[in-house]
Amino acid sequence: MPNKQQIDELKAILIERKENILSNINNSRANIDQLKEQEINDELDYAELVSDSFTEGMIANHQVEELKQIEDSLKKIDAGTYGICDMCGVVIPLGRLKAKPFAKFCTECRTVFENETMKRAKN
Ligand SMILES: [Zn+2]
Repeated sequence: MPNKQQIDELKAILIERKENILSNINNSRANIDQLKEQEINDELDYAELVSDSFTEGMIANHQVEELKQIEDSLKKIDAGTYGICDMCGVVIPLGRLKAKPFAKFCTECRTVFENETMKRAKN
């Protein structure tokens, strides 16, 4: 298990990341609103407008997902269950938590989970 100081450090990273995402999402929304207000003059502009909005939307969705994971991690820190794999219950190595502080699976379970998700996406 990471010790108190290590958890505090990871918590600070999580909170900072959370604030970044929140301001990014707000910026994306403002950008999309701005794009919508612009006049569309020809087909090319429209294509650009759609692809920009689409990309912004994708980024926002991805960030909302990450935000959810960060919230989960912060809850786990409060509950004292942070750093434990959701699937098999082993302690997630500190190196992995430092690289991805909101990781909920150990490396092995993450691989299994990703393979399963890919299989489901294909079916
Ligand atoms: Zn695991």
